[in-house]
Amino acid sequence: MRYEEMLERAYKSMPEKTLKRERFEMPKAQSFIQGNRTIVTNFSKILDTINRDEKHALKYITKQLATAASIDSGRLVLKGVFTPEQIQNIIADYIKTFVLCPECGRPDTKVIEQKGIKMLKCTACGAIAPLRE
Ligand SMILES: [Zn+2]
Repeated sequence: MRYEEMLERAYKSMPEKTLKRERFEMPKAQSFIQGNRTIVTNFSKILDTINRDEKHALKYITKQLATAASIDSGRLVLKGVFTPEQIQNIIADYIKTFVLCPECGRPDTKVIEQKGIKMLKCTACGAIAPLRE
């Protein structure tokens, strides 16, 4: 048997799961500008998807963008004009920092407290990592 054939055979016998490793799909923020405000229409939906507290995300976003914001019936209303790219980047940063497991990259994590320090615990692989505040 040729090496390539052997390789192919080994590849084929691998369980489906190993081949098609589910990748986390970054939620897309939908935003538009209204006057001097930027509105993210699917803010609550995104936070639902990643299972995180809206207020925590709000605090992070306003700090990063150095502006004020509020949540109005599921929408994030930011003071100032921001491009969809800016909004998307900040939300992606938030998710990378506070949601995705640094070990396996999956979003199945929760925030726990150990001796008063906030940690990110992954329910998929069991890794625990300190959370950046
Ligand atoms: Zn993990």
